[in-house]
Amino acid sequence: MSQSSRAVRIHRTGGPEEMVIDTVAVGEPGPGQVRIRHHAIGLNFIDVYQRTGLYNNPLPLQLGMEGAGVVEAVGEGVTHLKAGDRAAYAANPPGSYCDVRVMPAMNVCKLPDAIDFETGAAMMLKGLTAQYLLKKTRPVEGLEPGDFVLFHAAAGGVGLIACQWAKALGLQLIGTAGSDDKCALALAHGAAHAINYRTENFVERVKAITAGKGVKVVYDSVGKDTWEGSLDCLRPFGLMASFGNASGPVAPFAPGILGAKGSLYVTRQTLFTHISSRAATQAMADDLFAVVTSGQVKIRIDQRFALTDVQAAHRSLEARATTGCTILLP
Ligand code: NDP
Repeated sequence: MSQSSRAVRIHRTGGPEEMVIDTVAVGEPGPGQVRIRHHAIGLNFIDVYQRTGLYNNPLPLQLGMEGAGVVEAVGEGVTHLKAGDRAAYAANPPGSYCDVRVMPAMNVCKLPDAIDFETGAAMMLKGLTAQYLLKKTRPVEGLEPGDFVLFHAAAGGVGLIACQWAKALGLQLIGTAGSDDKCALALAHGAAHAINYRTENFVERVKAITAGKGVKVVYDSVGKDTWEGSLDCLRPFGLMASFGNASGPVAPFAPGILGAKGSLYVTRQTLFTHISSRAATQAMADDLFAVVTSGQVKIRIDQRFALTDVQAAHRSLEARATTGCTILLP
């Protein structure tokens, strides 16, 4: 039986005004697929990259990579979900900005009873990202309790989760953020130190905090504006973990610079490599569910928008006017 759904789509790449609400047909799930009706949808900075065309996708494109809701039907071969289950996901290809959709079941996980839909929609993509960054993206020298790491945009969606999780792991997270209020938020969520990188030189502050030694890892999702300074914050053999481009993509660089700055390592990670199998997705999600249900990591939803106000939601995110997580409500 076919039904229809509202869907936020772009027909060409560009600004927030390119997002329109279309009506699309939604059919039955095929083999390995699930049909899910959203109760809440997560907003992520990656949605901006998809909208502007930084990441190539065929058009028209239904945006959104995170959501939570109720499973309506499952296709052949899907054994970990059934109709009526509460579920949440982070998934590629995009398509979560809608009422109901058919999608691969691989990345869709049953939501524990203790986690509500809004929290589920807000935390999957950002929380699984914090998980792989802190648990799997390790310097060759290892990461021990007490070690310093630098995390940019620490008061954002991924950032506030990382502050709390890093503290639970015993790490001393130095967070950067774009205002004093955002710095206060990062500190209140477990950052050991916070730097307003709009008013302070973050390299000098990191050197002062670490007694000139530098940090073992920099987690950098800001990209163009912080790249150079981030390398200067690392101690010898340190790891530059680049995972985003909120200020624009990093310019090409000569590898020799890594030698000159102390035999550094660089990696560019993406969540979707980490969740490319059902087993890996579930293992990471279980880890995330455990820290959230234990209260070690609280998912802070600071902005809620109606799905129909998606343009305002994107404008707010791009203007650096948000903190924590943002959700869209269908
Ligand atoms: P955030 O809520 O963190 O929003 C982005 C933040 O980046 C802003 O709030 C702002 O914080 C900071 N920022 C710095 N410079 C700029 C700029 N020029 N324009 C806009 N923002 C800027 O977003 P998310 O939590 O959704 O994602 C955080 C980052 O992590 C993004 O870059 C995203 O692409 C990346 N990401 C990467 C993943 C991966 O696997 N590779 C997966 C998930 C997210 P402030 O004002 O404090 O500087």
